[in-house]
Amino acid sequence: MYLLASMKGLLVFTALLVAAFSKETFEGDQVLRITAKDEVQLDLLKELTEMEHLQLDVWRGPTDVSSPVDIRVPFIRLQTIKSFLEAEHIEYSVMISDLQVMLDEEQQQMLSAARSAAPRSSDNFDYSNYHTIAEIYAFQDMLVAEFPNLVSKIVIGQSYEGRPLTVLKFSTGGTNKPGIWLDTGIHSREWVTQASGTWFAKKIVTDYGREASLTAILDKMDIFLEIMTNPDGFAYTQTSNRMWRKTRKPNSGSTCVGTDPNRNWDAGFGGPGASASPCSETYRGPSANSESEVKSIVDFVRSHGNLKAFVSIHSYSQMLLYPYGYTKTPCKDQNELCPAPGIVTTRGYLSLILPQDTLAKKAITDLASLYGTSYRYGSIINTIYQASGGTVDWTYNQGIKYSYTFELRDTGRYGFILPANQILPTAKETWMALMTIMTHTKDNTI
Ligand SMILES: [Zn+2]
Repeated sequence: MYLLASMKGLLVFTALLVAAFSKETFEGDQVLRITAKDEVQLDLLKELTEMEHLQLDVWRGPTDVSSPVDIRVPFIRLQTIKSFLEAEHIEYSVMISDLQVMLDEEQQQMLSAARSAAPRSSDNFDYSNYHTIAEIYAFQDMLVAEFPNLVSKIVIGQSYEGRPLTVLKFSTGGTNKPGIWLDTGIHSREWVTQASGTWFAKKIVTDYGREASLTAILDKMDIFLEIMTNPDGFAYTQTSNRMWRKTRKPNSGSTCVGTDPNRNWDAGFGGPGASASPCSETYRGPSANSESEVKSIVDFVRSHGNLKAFVSIHSYSQMLLYPYGYTKTPCKDQNELCPAPGIVTTRGYLSLILPQDTLAKKAITDLASLYGTSYRYGSIINTIYQASGGTVDWTYNQGIKYSYTFELRDTGRYGFILPANQILPTAKETWMALMTIMTHTKDNTI
């Protein structure tokens, strides 16, 4: 047993080591936090982020004068970008001074976690570390084997590279029960989301029958959870390029690979807030639903026909967002989903928002109750930026009223490279908000 365990550890270790040598490196790359002081500077920043030849990686895009912009600048462009900012008197600070140093630390942590024996049950699974795609697939199968009366695995389709698009279904039986959908990892580099999704799965099986609210939800509704919504991208972040966000489907007529799966939905598709260029990180794809990772969910939502909530989980920047992203027209359920009319256009931190008894506010208040983590909330277009072809705009237009997008921790200190020791706190606090949304959905479902 011990020998087997250490052999397994060695194999994983070797695989990670081999992968490490063919990986893209980010030595000397910095993440700059840039703050525009007026609209002129903001427009300059927008132009800057759209200049593809600069190969800037926008972690947090320009929205308004008061919100910072985070950009990963490749080492060779640092001087140019800093000179430009200084010449234009645009303020900036260095958030991450050498991205590769942080990635090496993350890799080191993952390697030491991988050396321990493979978990024998979902109780032994190490929820406080990042895992490979194979380990998460194995975890899902383990959970299904341990709780056959509560969890099953559905394959809703195949990724471009042929990986199964697996969804965990939590159900206490019955047919055509109303459903709640949760997904993580549609942007592959947002690792804390897949890690949180894994913890959510275990939390559901642990709490059912023991915790009243979750039990009440599952007695009435089914929960669907897709942990690895973009498995090709996720695999690629582990073998080749940690900063990969998009799908992995090649684009005809371009050497740039992949589509942004959060710009590929048939809601305002092709409008502002998505790029027509295959080399862009926000490339919308050749047509709506062109990515099988998106189309498979579309087909699932349509064939299920009775989803009442749809929550798509991203990172980072600590926000809870609701439709719309492609239009300023407020969603028609704004009184319930969002702040009251008039407040919708108010961008602001939690403390600035007027007290409104709304679901979004309640959810982030409950989230904050655990560790004090503060979230902003509002419609996508007013809180983050205009984005067309987004997931929850489409699900909302399908009649799924409780459609939300989360942006989990942090606010930019680590960005996408959130240290593993923040996985559990992130998952736990997010669960508080999810329970609020799911309970409200259950109470408002006949
Ligand atoms: Zn994202």
